Amino acid sequence: MDEFVISSGHAKMVRGASGYIDEVDEARKVVPKVAEYLKELDCKVHTFNDDASKTQRDNINTIVKYHDSKSRDLDVSVHFNAGTKEIGGTEVLYCTDGNKALATKVSKAISEALGIKDRGAKKRTDLGFLKGTAKPAILIEVCFVDTKSNTEAYKKNFDECCKAIAETLSGKKLKEAVKPVETKNVVLHKVQVGAFSDEKNAVKLAEELKKKGYLTSIVKG
Ligand SMILES: [Zn+2]
Repeated sequence: MDEFVISSGHAKMVRGASGYIDEVDEARKVVPKVAEYLKELDCKVHTFNDDASKTQRDNINTIVKYHDSKSRDLDVSVHFNAGTKEIGGTEVLYCTDGNKALATKVSKAISEALGIKDRGAKKRTDLGFLKGTAKPAILIEVCFVDTKSNTEAYKKNFDECCKAIAETLSGKKLKEAVKPVETKNVVLHKVQVGAFSDEKNAVKLAEELKKKGYLTSIVKG
């Protein structure tokens, strides 16, 4: 798959769950970051936040309408869960059986990136978003907003989480960032050629060595 529509769950004025973090606020951070990584993977991405709706019904209709207005292979909705004060975890909801395998993979990838429980793919036939869009769709519940350890893991591993989503959706791997060469433990072995009290003699030898192609420097001391 290489073309996606990703939207944040709920709306600016139709809020979702809140606990240690706020569902709508966080979904609006995950969506653009996942889009950024998908673009790095040469995918086409359209993103959407609903800033206009005032009711839940309007909200679902507005989101579905946006998704259906774009060409894409997959529709993705980003949510955060609430309700368990204990272990929490990641789950990915789907409606039609054809999307179960992808939902399973995405849930596993996020839970591994965050180091939290993988609650897996869950079939839901009652959700407006999953029922409404014309293309295959999944609804991601990143973690639980009211499970402290989940929210801490999410904050700490936000980038890894978004990378994992992008890589799993696209089926491609992001390039590793090039690390600067580590130099702090390198021991340099220097070769000294001569020591002169008269600077002119030092300069003369340095010139000769330079002519022969040696990298030369004069150090006073
Ligand atoms: Zn939600």
